[in-house]
Amino acid sequence: MQLLDGKALSETIKKELKIESDALVKKGITPCLAVIVVGDDAASHTYVNSKEKSCHAAGIASIVRRLPAITTEEALLELIDSLNNDQNVDGILVQLPVPKHIDSAKIIEAIDPKKDVDGFHPFNVGRLMAGLDGFVPCTPYGVMKLLEAYNINVRGMDACVIGASNIVGKPMMNLLLNASATVEICRSSTKNLKEHTLRADLIVVGVGKINLLSADMVKEGAIVIDVGINRNSEGKIVGDVDFAGVAPKCSFITPVPGGVGPMTIAMLLSNTITSAKQRLH
Ligand code: NAD
Repeated sequence: MQLLDGKALSETIKKELKIESDALVKKGITPCLAVIVVGDDAASHTYVNSKEKSCHAAGIASIVRRLPAITTEEALLELIDSLNNDQNVDGILVQLPVPKHIDSAKIIEAIDPKKDVDGFHPFNVGRLMAGLDGFVPCTPYGVMKLLEAYNINVRGMDACVIGASNIVGKPMMNLLLNASATVEICRSSTKNLKEHTLRADLIVVGVGKINLLSADMVKEGAIVIDVGINRNSEGKIVGDVDFAGVAPKCSFITPVPGGVGPMTIAMLLSNTITSAKQRLH
C-alpha cells in the first residue's frame, strides 16, 4: 500500500505557482483572488482564512469580504458585479453554503465564467461535461492531479464515485469519464453500495459520513480516494473511509488529513494563476 501524499504534492505545486506569479508580477500583473463569505459559519471562516494564507504563500493577492448573515441577495449580487468589472481581480469565489435567504444558484450564475475559479458556473460545468477547457472544480481537479503525480492512469479502470454533489461527485465523474475510465456514481438512494464498490478498481468517496467505506466493501488492490472531512467524537479530522481497515487492501490510498484537502486549495491557486494569465492576451 502506498499513501497518496496530497500535502507534499500541494507544497510542490504552490512553489511552482509562486514562480509563475512572480513572473506575472514582473509583467505588471498581480494575480488576485476575491473571496466572499456571508454569515458566521465557523467552518466557512476556517476555509476562507486558510485560502487567504495560501494565496499569500503563492504570491497571489487576496481580497476577502466577510459579510454579515443579514446581507441581502441583491447586495451580494452587486458586490459580485463590481468584482466582475474590476480589471485587477482574476478569480471570484463565494464560500458555500450561503444563508438560506440567498439563492446559491443565482449567485454562482452571477460570477463571470472567466473569473469562476471554483468551476461551479453552468458555463464551466457544461465545458467540463463536453470535454472542453474551462475552470474545473478544485477538489476533483486536485484528485486527478494527485493520481497523475503517482503515474496512475485511470484509462479502462472501473471507477466508483460515491456522492453526487455538484462540487465533488458530478465533476469527479466527468473528469474520470474524460480520462477514459468506466464510471459509476452512487448516492444515498443507491440500493446496494457494496455491490458497486466491490467491482471498482478506483473508489472516490465524498459523502461526509465517518466509516462509510469499510474493508469488506473494497476489493484487493483497489485505489481509494477519501474526499470526506468529518470531525470524530475525539474532535479529530477524519474522512469517510475506515482507514485502518481499508488501507491494507489498497494499492494506493489518500490519508485524511493530508490527502485531497491540501490539493483542493492548490488547485484553487492554480485556477487563479490560469485566470491571471488571460490578462496577457
Ligand atoms: P453534499 O452533502 O452536497 O453531498 C453528499 C453526497 O453524498 C450526496 O450526493 C448524497 O446523496 C451522498 N450520500 C449521502 N449519504 C450516502 C450514503 N450513505 N451512501 C452513498 N452516498 C451517500 O456534500 P459535498 O459538499 O459533496 O461534500 C461531501 C464531503 O466531502 C463532505 O465531508 C465535505 O466536507 C467533503 N469535502 C471535502 C473537500 C476537500 O477539499 N477535501 C471539498 C469539498 C467537500
